[in-house]
Amino acid sequence: MSPANKMLPPGEQAAVLSASAGILCTGDEYTGPDGLRCCSYCHGHREMRVRLLGRERIVPVLCNCQVEERDKREQEMKLRDFQLKRERLREEGLEDKGYYEYCFAKDNKRNPQMKHAYTYVENWDRMKAEGKGLLIWGGTGTGKSFMAGCIANALIDQCVPVMMTNFARILNKITGTFGDERNQIISRMNHNSLLIIDDLGIERNTDFAMEQIFNVIDSRYRSRKPMIICTNLELSELKNPQDVDHERIYSRILEHSICIKCNGISFREENAKKTMEEAVKVFR
Ligand SMILES: [Zn+2]
Repeated sequence: MSPANKMLPPGEQAAVLSASAGILCTGDEYTGPDGLRCCSYCHGHREMRVRLLGRERIVPVLCNCQVEERDKREQEMKLRDFQLKRERLREEGLEDKGYYEYCFAKDNKRNPQMKHAYTYVENWDRMKAEGKGLLIWGGTGTGKSFMAGCIANALIDQCVPVMMTNFARILNKITGTFGDERNQIISRMNHNSLLIIDDLGIERNTDFAMEQIFNVIDSRYRSRKPMIICTNLELSELKNPQDVDHERIYSRILEHSICIKCNGISFREENAKKTMEEAVKVFR
């Protein structure tokens, strides 16, 4: 509440005046016995005498309530800046609007592997310092993207720059670009403290795709920043790749990743079942 809003009724103003033996100036101020303006609420000075170039001058100062008011405004501005930054990070970092929905608040606690997502976020500072990522593998619809998305949103909530994308999107962006432009796309991804790539292994295995996937993974690997990869591939396939092109991609991922198998209930199947049951109810 600002001092102006805390105007005292006339009777109380008189009491304040007699207590401080001053003269009322305007509204919430009075002139104290030392001739300086004072606050009617906290009785702090709003002016002080200073010597400037050999002459005494009176300069304005903030009383306690004004300091409080200023600090409160600064806090509010900081909070607003933080919220704006957070939403900008989410908009720039989550390349699919569907990822916005993947958050711990929506965890139905039925996938025991989700504990790793909580642990990763809790230990983020260490994970970041050590460049430790996750390799989340398992069948389709077992909650891999949800797990990764929860980590993305929880870190973005703390204003950590995270990018969550997939190789199909990366390849789309890269196709038709050359040299510096292509390098810039990859280096922009690496500005993020965490890079999450959903669905490694579903893209076409063309030479171009393989080369670009290698470039993305290798450049991330050399940046020593963590990445999280979700894949439908079996861990045995990743550990025993079919050829040297796959080997050089997978070995870089495995070197700095904690491997988590998502083998829970197939969420998509379950959701489909639920939708079906609801549809049946409607048609009854
Ligand atoms: Zn005051």
